[in-house]
Amino acid sequence: MTCPKCGSQNVNVQMVNEARLKNVHHSIFWWIFVGWWWIPIKWLCFTVPALLFKIFGHKKQRIVNNVKTVCVCQNCGYSWEIR
Ligand SMILES: [Zn+2]
Repeated sequence: MTCPKCGSQNVNVQMVNEARLKNVHHSIFWWIFVGWWWIPIKWLCFTVPALLFKIFGHKKQRIVNNVKTVCVCQNCGYSWEIR
């Protein structure tokens, strides 16, 4: 493995497991103007059909595991992905 930036052979190859965690933080203004009525509506519109679908629908779950290989140059610190 050769660094594309500096041409060094001192490259560290790592396997990185990318966990997709989405943290949505709403501002205080969002909660005052939207959150208090949007959450029950969201519950009625999305959670109830989702629960019904969960009960009567297919019990099939798909786990998306995104593993990527990342190379880090020990000489200049440049990192890149291998696909
Ligand atoms: Zn380098």
